[in-house]
Amino acid sequence: MADLVFKYGSMGSSKTASCLMLRFECMENGLNVLFLKPSIDNRDGVSTVKSRIGIEADAFTYDADDSISRKFANELIDCDVIIIDEVQFSSKKQIEELKAISEGLDKPVYTFGLRTDFKTNLWEGSKRLFELATVIEELPKKCFCGNSAIVNARYDEKGIVYDGKQVELGSNDKYKALCYTCYKRGRVNGKR
Ligand SMILES: [Zn+2]
Repeated sequence: MADLVFKYGSMGSSKTASCLMLRFECMENGLNVLFLKPSIDNRDGVSTVKSRIGIEADAFTYDADDSISRKFANELIDCDVIIIDEVQFSSKKQIEELKAISEGLDKPVYTFGLRTDFKTNLWEGSKRLFELATVIEELPKKCFCGNSAIVNARYDEKGIVYDGKQVELGSNDKYKALCYTCYKRGRVNGKR
């Protein structure tokens, strides 16, 4: 049966760029790509996936309570491969649907997303992917201190924010990938 792949990393680990490059590569090989993303992430408009390095593509979106199998029933039959960005915002049930698609339809599903939220807890979708994916790969990212940046720290003008709601959309203005030590010590802007 086909693979369910989870490529995870911190913010700034080129997840979206890798995702868009994979889409391009598949298309170049003549494959029909079904490109999806959860609708919760609307920084760039409901259907545009955009990387910091400037490449972008349109994606179909799904809501938290949508059934991916039902919503994209026709597209799933027509496509050769499914690629999903920002997959962490998917529900446990939706990840189980993706697993069923890779098994039942025998079509590979490539997902890209964050491992944990700003409080270092696994996202619901990412947790289920760690449990069900056949291939799991880290997209590495370094903290400014040189350690591996595994935390997506949320910050404001006062420093690192350790509490609040799980989803608060933002980019470099609100989040910074840090190692655990810098996160705990509140080192958001270089060593001190
Ligand atoms: Zn660090």
